[in-house]
Amino acid sequence: MKSGSSSLKIKKHLLPLSLSETEEKIISLVARSARELNLPVFLVGGHVRDKILQRPSKDIDFVVVGSGVELAESVAAHFHPAASLAVYKNFGTALVKHEDFEVEFVGARKESYRGDSRKPIVEDGTLEDDLSRRDFTINALAVSLNDDDYGMLYDAFDGLKDIEKKIIRTPLNPDITFSDDPLRMMRAIRFASQLSFRIEPETWQSLVRNRERISIISAERITEEMNKIILSPKPSVGFDLLFKSGLLKIFFPEFEKLFGVEHVEGKGHKDNFYHTLQVLDNLSEKSDDLWLRWAAILHDIAKPDTKRFEKGRGWTFHGHEVVGARKVERIFRKLHLPLNEKMKFVQKMVMLHLRPIVLSKEEVTDSAIRRLLFDAGDDIDSLMMLCESDITSKNEKKVKRYLENFQLVRTKLKEVEASDRLRNWQPPISGELIMKTFGKPPGKEIGIIKDAIREAILEGVISNTFDDAYNFMLAKAKELGWECVNKY
Ligand code: ATP
Ligand code: MG
Repeated sequence: MKSGSSSLKIKKHLLPLSLSETEEKIISLVARSARELNLPVFLVGGHVRDKILQRPSKDIDFVVVGSGVELAESVAAHFHPAASLAVYKNFGTALVKHEDFEVEFVGARKESYRGDSRKPIVEDGTLEDDLSRRDFTINALAVSLNDDDYGMLYDAFDGLKDIEKKIIRTPLNPDITFSDDPLRMMRAIRFASQLSFRIEPETWQSLVRNRERISIISAERITEEMNKIILSPKPSVGFDLLFKSGLLKIFFPEFEKLFGVEHVEGKGHKDNFYHTLQVLDNLSEKSDDLWLRWAAILHDIAKPDTKRFEKGRGWTFHGHEVVGARKVERIFRKLHLPLNEKMKFVQKMVMLHLRPIVLSKEEVTDSAIRRLLFDAGDDIDSLMMLCESDITSKNEKKVKRYLENFQLVRTKLKEVEASDRLRNWQPPISGELIMKTFGKPPGKEIGIIKDAIREAILEGVISNTFDDAYNFMLAKAKELGWECVNKY
């Protein structure tokens, strides 16, 4: 069987792709099925790129000169038991799932675009047509799985060299590539951030020129790429590019608004955009949690709304944690992020982000520690990580002092947690017991007693035990002139 793409510039590299056992199995099955059907097939795109870079990759793409769906059906049937298969007729693609791999098949295609949509007009094409429609040279590499040149790398646009030089460049005129499908601008920046690559100057200038085109892309798609930037090893790389390109201002103006320094009476505040990026990078060294990283992005989001210059005091941002926590939902909604417990977690982190810092600057009292544990619950470790990342002063002495105090806060947290068990605190005395003891109906007064018990525990007046709380309840009720009708 011929690969049918002799017009391509061929690089005579037989790549030593180091493949896992499962990858070997998938690829050899695909090659076998293609031989049986006499369909030329190539390993293509992100998987080839990632294997050359020795990065893990759980999705594998194959391009078929002919019907991708037909090959996918045959491949799925060759697995024992047969693998799951999803066919997307409208796109002419099919997805086979095997173990934790997603294997996608597409027929080689030629694409042309109209101005108002990223939906192309698609026709059957050659391998070369197919590689030219791909976004970047590093993603336009194909490896033949055909008998006549098995393992040969097809590299029409010098993608291999760009991988070596760590460059992101479009295969064709970047103005056409970006204007046709503006999501590619997000992808360029995402790859720069994920792989620590540089965007080649012409490609970059075109990206900046075409930035307004991003408005035809849905919020979901933009956010999907932004989340990949957030999960990259040093997310500031991607966000700095989003900022400099002007894209950030278009789809996430609330974040862009943090940029800049205002001066009054010769005093400037810090640039909250670059401060936030520093916090995000610091945090990313400690945690891979997407939502905690989102909390880092949003922790100071309300600083522009709350900024004041107070004579004699300088710049203040009173209440920015409260206003910020309130803004989270609107931002999540706009960016099509989930409006579920993940969002609630981010709100909580934004709301509480000053608490450990305040503690570390003042004397650390047990009651303040108890209150922190009570409010943060199981998220205390995440909160501590976020707050430690928030210490970005240029004054090394100050940083050292804060970090030392932080250590003290952590030690105290451990001590208080061990003795008082306040994480996910449950009141030792229930509302029902209060009602039963004093023969009272549900109402405001029951809440007053419950609150008084909680406050007494948090202040350390009584211990977090049933007996102490019960006696405290009796004393408090006496003050109110209540009679005990049911002794426990
Ligand atoms: P990752 O899997 O890490 O998201 P990827 O490059 O593999 O990165 P996929 O979405 O899996 O991205 O796409 C597979 C391949 O399809 C890409 O490598 C590229 O060749 C091509 N591709 C994907 N999206 C586009 C696009 N918007 N424009 C042009 N080509 C694209
Ligand atoms: Mg991929």
